[in-house]
Amino acid sequence: MPVIVQKYGGTSVADAERIRAVARRVVGAREAGNDVVVVVSAMGRTTDELMVMAREIAALPTPRELDLLLTAGERIAMSLLSIAINDMGVPAASYTGSQAGIITDTRHGRARIIDIRPGRIREALEAGNVVIVAGFQGVSTAYDVTTLGRGGSDTTAVALAAALGAEFCEIYTDVPGVFTADPRIEPEARKLHAVSYEEMLELAASGARVLQLRSVEYARGNGVMLHVRSSFGDEDGTWVREADERMEKAIVSGVAHADNEAKVTVIGVPDRPGVAATIFRALADEGVSVDMIVQNVSHDGRTDVSFTSPKDDLPRIAGVMDRVAEEVGAEGHAADDGIAKVSLVGAGIRSDPGVAAAMFAALAEEGINIEMISTSSIRVSCVIRAEHAERAVRAIHARFNLAGEAGRRVHSPGAESADPGAEAAP
Ligand code: ADP
Ligand code: ASP
Ligand code: MG
Repeated sequence: MPVIVQKYGGTSVADAERIRAVARRVVGAREAGNDVVVVVSAMGRTTDELMVMAREIAALPTPRELDLLLTAGERIAMSLLSIAINDMGVPAASYTGSQAGIITDTRHGRARIIDIRPGRIREALEAGNVVIVAGFQGVSTAYDVTTLGRGGSDTTAVALAAALGAEFCEIYTDVPGVFTADPRIEPEARKLHAVSYEEMLELAASGARVLQLRSVEYARGNGVMLHVRSSFGDEDGTWVREADERMEKAIVSGVAHADNEAKVTVIGVPDRPGVAATIFRALADEGVSVDMIVQNVSHDGRTDVSFTSPKDDLPRIAGVMDRVAEEVGAEGHAADDGIAKVSLVGAGIRSDPGVAAAMFAALAEEGINIEMISTSSIRVSCVIRAEHAERAVRAIHARFNLAGEAGRRVHSPGAESADPGAEAAP
């Protein structure tokens, strides 16, 4: 029997009625003659609520204990869904990440899956069960329960699809697919029929939280196609897969924004060789990930170095910076958590030098100041004040005509006629 892997996010299982609706969909897939493996997230905002409970008790909860606490959310959802499916007369059994053989490294809160041992799941399928697996969790090589980072149920689902040889993985969520911008911020955003792994990686890394970044990396690495779709309807969603000639040849695929990063500035750093190496080595040794880096022009032999990192890492960064500022002879350091990053992503960016300029112009017309810029071959990102983020997304979306089919690959007058056959049929 073909194996189908379906993942349902928190909103899709938020209450008893929705859990029953998911159960009906699962039973439908089973009755259509498939082996069905279902990955569930915690109900509604359970993970946030558990996090708040822990932080009411301690400012920095012990990572091992926090992981045990957070995994409880997915356990509740998995068992309730299994109860609902059994109640419909279809045998189902639920398993924690650990029981399902999801083996991770030992980094609590952001563990990576290093192996899947799906023996128990295969047995349960062979015995005729629908299998439900708790998302977002595994067991480490040191036998402790771990979590895979926020949004990690997506990665659980992709990893299981790869391990079980499923042809694709269905990600059921609260929007009908991947859009040209977050549809909650830009109502004009358009659903993409298909998007390449490469573009989806950049969108996810830029804050489009519809898929966890790691899940897209895992899918690409293992050749698993993703189908992102609504759990509230039956329409086709967005396919995430290898780029091919049938995919729309868009210059720009979408706009994303992220407000979970902060800007840290090391002030008055002596401008001499080795300083950047010292600062970023110290951050790397603490496991702090750094996104953008900007060094200002030096005056009187001193310069400022700024970088962005996850806000959650600020307490750790402060400790590192106290030490490093003194070591390199800097005048001090400061953190700014009032920033946001807006990014424009598209495979055509690499061949069109006008895209970055048009994005900056869109921000300028809105009077939005750009504080930092970074680019990859298919992405342009700008750091701006957080309060302007949503307006920036809408302005860029409009500037690139992302709402309209025809305008999608046109960023400046005349560009369309330059390549009339660019948009292949989907
Ligand atoms: P789930 O609980 O199903 O995993 P998430 O909240 O993690 O759902 O992700 C879905 C949300 O991602 C949507 O509700 C939407 O607001 C947001 N989102 C951000 N960018 C995009 C985008 N480009 N396309 C679709 N959704 C997006
Ligand atoms: N429940 C977890 C979270 O809220 C994992 C997930 O939903 O994918 O981040
Ligand atoms: Mg999610």
